[in-house]
Amino acid sequence: MKSNLRVFSYLKRYPGLATAQFFCATLMAVSVIFFPKITQIVIDDIVPNPARHDDLLFWIFLATASYFLKDGLNCARIFVNNHFEQNVVFDIRSDLYQKIQRLPLNWFDSRRTGDIMTRVVEDVTSMERVLIDGIELGLVAFIQLIAVGLVMYLTDWQVALWATLPIPILLIGAWIYSKDARHRHKAERNASSSLNSLLHDNIAGIRQIKSYAAEDEEHTNFNRLSHEIRKATLHLMKWWAIYNPSMSFASMLGYVLVLGFGASALIEGRMSGGDLVFFFLLLGLFYEPVGKLRQLNQMIFSSRAAADRVFEIMDSENEPNASDGESLPPEITAHVRFDNVSFAYGSQPTLNKLNLDAPPGHTIALVGSTGAGKSTVLSLLNRFYEHDSGTISIDGTDISALSKSSLREKLAYVTQEAFLFNGSVRENLTLAKRDATDDEMWLALEAANGASFVRNLPDKLDTNVGERGVKLSGGEKQRLSIARALLKNAPILLLDEATASVDSETESQIQAALDRLMENRTAFVIAHRLSTIQNADRIYVMEKGGVIEEGTHNELLAREGKYAELCRRSFLAEREP
Ligand code: ADP
Repeated sequence: MKSNLRVFSYLKRYPGLATAQFFCATLMAVSVIFFPKITQIVIDDIVPNPARHDDLLFWIFLATASYFLKDGLNCARIFVNNHFEQNVVFDIRSDLYQKIQRLPLNWFDSRRTGDIMTRVVEDVTSMERVLIDGIELGLVAFIQLIAVGLVMYLTDWQVALWATLPIPILLIGAWIYSKDARHRHKAERNASSSLNSLLHDNIAGIRQIKSYAAEDEEHTNFNRLSHEIRKATLHLMKWWAIYNPSMSFASMLGYVLVLGFGASALIEGRMSGGDLVFFFLLLGLFYEPVGKLRQLNQMIFSSRAAADRVFEIMDSENEPNASDGESLPPEITAHVRFDNVSFAYGSQPTLNKLNLDAPPGHTIALVGSTGAGKSTVLSLLNRFYEHDSGTISIDGTDISALSKSSLREKLAYVTQEAFLFNGSVRENLTLAKRDATDDEMWLALEAANGASFVRNLPDKLDTNVGERGVKLSGGEKQRLSIARALLKNAPILLLDEATASVDSETESQIQAALDRLMENRTAFVIAHRLSTIQNADRIYVMEKGGVIEEGTHNELLAREGKYAELCRRSFLAEREP
């Protein structure tokens, strides 16, 4: 029950709403006894007594008032409960989102986006069910059960004993049902998560699916996972189909027993007709909460499976030093060094005792074959991942001692795949500088050679760029992301194949923008094209996680080594002067 208890710990934040909820639920549960009692009085005292016939109207009015009270209280309880529950769900979801943002990148590397989304959206809602329905069913049912049971025993303890005889059977049934319920519900949640993950992937990759004519295969994959949900749900329902009617049968036995023993008490004169009707009405109110508690049992297990999945995220370890640690001074010269840095994503070493030196204002180019570890160098400088050994320093300060927010303030990172968020051009730009004015944005766009295309967009800065910037071309996206980096005005610039995906005319425009961006900054550039690399102050040729050559373009060409070979063999050659 640990997860459910943790859900309830969120309730403590709202003592006022909890008290109001408890107050309404208690009064409501107790108020159900009024009608059976009034019925008993009418049958036993009013009907046989002609002198009191005139009182009938009063008792009928009282009966109406008792239901008015009960349902009025219920109305208030539902209002209170809705606010209570939505506040708690908001808090859980907000904590969960904050937690997700604090998780390290390697956590995301091994997760499916659809699964994370299922947890934030669906599982939190399922957890909420134990709060709304759980409180309604559990609290009201429990109080009603105790109150009605007490009145039954006070009325006739022998008949009441027969009425409560099925209770142990119900408890044993609930125990048997609950034993594996958690696994059944977990299987259903996981199946649903897998389907969401596939759906998320396939919708993001819908262009690939269409262009490879893979619709049928993907439909089959979808149906396979959808069938898993059907199987898991049917398994759940099979148990419920057996459990629910059997328990209902056991409760109904109570009615039969009371009919038998109540009737004999009536024959023996131990009970009046009014008492028996009173008893039967009470019995209805006694078994109604028993049925609700059965449903609650089902709900607790379903919500527990969801809560387990939510708390699994909450319990994951945060990214270290996200906000605590030293800060860099406001002005830095931006001298970046990698000394003997080693790193492995998993067991496979990726960087091996790597040494790099980027003096202030210098542009460092990283070249080498795919998989050499170039992008990893930039990831480590960003501290997306923590290096295993060696030192990465900025102006002599080890970046491991810095708070990540202070470190990342000094870095502007332009990735190969220019990622834009589904929002306006303005929203995408202000990500880099929250309070940027329109003038500043236009200046940055101008410098990034992007002002003219933004001016031609229907709503200019307010034009929506679509999901991942799908409404813009590759070059346009790239220019926006360069403008974003310019706006950030950070002293260290990281460019990961920023011009790889654009044509040569666009590339020369973007290159001009990048040259402006690199002025007076320390820059790390990963590029395949010579035009980007040849003007670098120093070129590091990487292979298998280490540096095999370093020098200027001309020095490296003269050396006739790997760099010269790369220049001859590949794209680098075509632009050689
Ligand atoms: P480059 O930029 O030189 O092409 P990378 O730095 O991207 O190379 O990758 C270096 C090696 O690390 C590759 O073998 C790649 O498969 C592996 N790698 C890169 N990113 C990850 C990751 N997030 N998880 C596990 N392995 C990774």
